[in-house]
Amino acid sequence: MTTAKRVRRINPSPSVAAAQRVRELKSRGLAIHDLTVGEPDFDTPEHVKAAAIRAIESGETKYTPVNGTPALRAAIIDRLRRRHGLNYTDAQITVGGGAKQVIFLALTATLDEGDEVVIPAPYWVSYPDMVRANDGTPVIVDCPEADGFKLTPDRLRAALTERTRWIVLNSPGNPTGAAYTTGELRSLAEVLLEHPQVRVLTDEIYDEIWYDDGEHSSLAAAEPRLVDRVFLTNGVSKTYAMTGWRIGYGAGPADLVAAINTLQSQLSSCPSSISQAAAAAALGGPQDFVLESVDVYRTRRDTVVKLIGETPGLSCATPSGAFYVLVDCRPYLGRFTPAGTRIETDEDFARHLLEDQQVAVIHGSAYGAPGYFRISFATSLEILTEACARIAAACATLSERPS
Ligand code: PLP
Repeated sequence: MTTAKRVRRINPSPSVAAAQRVRELKSRGLAIHDLTVGEPDFDTPEHVKAAAIRAIESGETKYTPVNGTPALRAAIIDRLRRRHGLNYTDAQITVGGGAKQVIFLALTATLDEGDEVVIPAPYWVSYPDMVRANDGTPVIVDCPEADGFKLTPDRLRAALTERTRWIVLNSPGNPTGAAYTTGELRSLAEVLLEHPQVRVLTDEIYDEIWYDDGEHSSLAAAEPRLVDRVFLTNGVSKTYAMTGWRIGYGAGPADLVAAINTLQSQLSSCPSSISQAAAAAALGGPQDFVLESVDVYRTRRDTVVKLIGETPGLSCATPSGAFYVLVDCRPYLGRFTPAGTRIETDEDFARHLLEDQQVAVIHGSAYGAPGYFRISFATSLEILTEACARIAAACATLSERPS
């Protein structure tokens, strides 16, 4: 069978591939210390599960409107109003099978061949391939650690062309945990106001997993003059430990939302009715789970940042949000393993951690961050402490000359 060009242009998600590799190694009986997981290790809150059970028992088991149930859309509108003071109408909300699907459909709805999408690096692995799958051209803009892994107005200005259709802003970001302040968003907005053809896709999936003072800021709220050009995406996966329920949403201009709904009507008709009932309960119900889980993540974050900081040759910035730490391992590139293999790249380094100490991480190049690797701290403090000790042990085996 010949596959279509759009499939040949893209790669399977490296994080999904890493998770698969870890599952295989575990099924062979190997004790893997897994720091690859991009999902909360908590269970979905009980009141959310109960809402899903009620939906099943009361017969909410049929197709729903393409853009989601009225109850879920109302819960999303209410949340965006409470959280950011943003006032969306019903026609500006769409619901899909995860934020991933919503983002993909926003690109399908708007990109023609050769249209450019500016993606600040480090980036979530899926953005460039989603753009390619939709005939667009990803324009990767390096945002070094010295800039806090964040896009600056100058770098943004230099990346924009007549063909730019979107810029993607993921804050707090995967894999860095870096987040834009209101002031930084406003400075980027000044540049964007000069380029009316450019829309902004904000991926705010980690906005509640937030450690700094004050609340995480959203571009549409920070710069109201851009509100008609922002497509805000979010979901319940990370905040409420609901990755398997597959519900995400988008809020933005009604014409874009209508186009997404048309695609959705031919794609899956609607997301699962049961998951939508659960998501409405998550967004509209008690939020104690969110506060409690963030406290747990904060302790883990502080532990990982401290242990990595104590490991000679490794360093990392302290994330403001999300549950990832991006670790700089560049000092180890060019060194040799005890078997005499030269560590050329971050991928070699990650392989060495796995082979030498059975610690699984994802190499930074997958995120456009060569010379780094990503640790997910969505796992227990015990596993994190043991894994960090093992990472230090694996580093200590690397020598400057082959033995
Ligand atoms: N956006 C980012 C930055 C992510 O890291 C992820 C999941 O890893 C998603 C979106 C996808 O979320 P969902 O489960 O809602 O599809």
